[in-house]
Amino acid sequence: MSIERVAIIGLGLLGGSLGLALRENLPGVTTTGYDASPATRARAAQRGLVGTVCDSAAEAVAEADLVVLCVPVGAMAQAAREIAPALPAHTIISDVGSSKQSVARALAEALPGHVVIPAHPVAGTEQSGPDAGFATLFRQRWCILTPGPDAPEAAMADLTELWEALGAKVEIMDPAHHDVVLAVTSHIPHLIAYTIVGTASDLEDVTQSEVIKYSAGGFRDFTRIAASDPTMWRDVFLSNREAVLEVLGRFSEDLTALQRAIRNGDGETLFDLFSRTRTIRRSIIEQGQDDARPDFGREHGD
Ligand code: NAP
Repeated sequence: MSIERVAIIGLGLLGGSLGLALRENLPGVTTTGYDASPATRARAAQRGLVGTVCDSAAEAVAEADLVVLCVPVGAMAQAAREIAPALPAHTIISDVGSSKQSVARALAEALPGHVVIPAHPVAGTEQSGPDAGFATLFRQRWCILTPGPDAPEAAMADLTELWEALGAKVEIMDPAHHDVVLAVTSHIPHLIAYTIVGTASDLEDVTQSEVIKYSAGGFRDFTRIAASDPTMWRDVFLSNREAVLEVLGRFSEDLTALQRAIRNGDGETLFDLFSRTRTIRRSIIEQGQDDARPDFGREHGD
């Protein structure tokens, strides 16, 4: 692998985890980093998220072989413009954004003539900021690369090797397809969680304290997702608008069908769907994408 120096722009959950994972798994690789927030830069330096925390994006990327933009999707264009004048000609530019078509467009526009290989590690938590990152975030998780047709093979091989060294499994996907797949597996589930938690807190005949007290009935599992970073998720929905609206249309139809089944007392339809969904949960566990223990392995007191 010819990547010896990595610059990370944005030192929150993803950027911090990347820095820590590089230090743990590829100690020969030098890391620099920059974040727009001075408080985040100070905390990143304290935690050692990267080898050197720089005072500007330009300084961070000046000698990098690879730059990874780890900022919210809506800030990618601005971050790319900031690094453009300082970027060495040979540097590979990548990112970790949750939607890929709009990011690929923004990076290509801001960085003409550079090798850009967008990426999305499908790994995260509901936490954000410089204290949220940890070195094992990417282990056993997929990292999806969405290269354009001109992506050089050597750069693809280097980026793949780097993510694999951090414990990730790499898949290559067309950006438009990525955006539909992630709309189904991530973006719509977040939208549903944000909706149900919002609805519950707005109900008039069920009090807030009842919602919290009886949350173990299922509600609390939605609240983990609905606690995710508001800036990040606002940007995801605005940037992946078309795929999200397409999948949401389909979801609304299915929800209406369930509403009809409940109204008509059609237990067979409900039972058939609930049986199919149970199988999907089993497959996720079999493929090592979640904990097999009941109730996500939570402690239950005596
Ligand atoms: P995060 O913890 O909020 O970190 C993002 C950091 O970027 C913040 O510290 C932010 O500073 C900084 N930033 C914003 N604009 C910047 C700029 N122009 N230059 C430098 N720094 C800038 O968010 P995250 O969860 O790591 O998400 C980062 C990216 O990863 C997003 O594109 C997201 O879609 C993607 N992603 C997230 C997850 C997840 O589960 N969280 C999973 C996979 C991919 P301020 O706070 O001061 O704005």
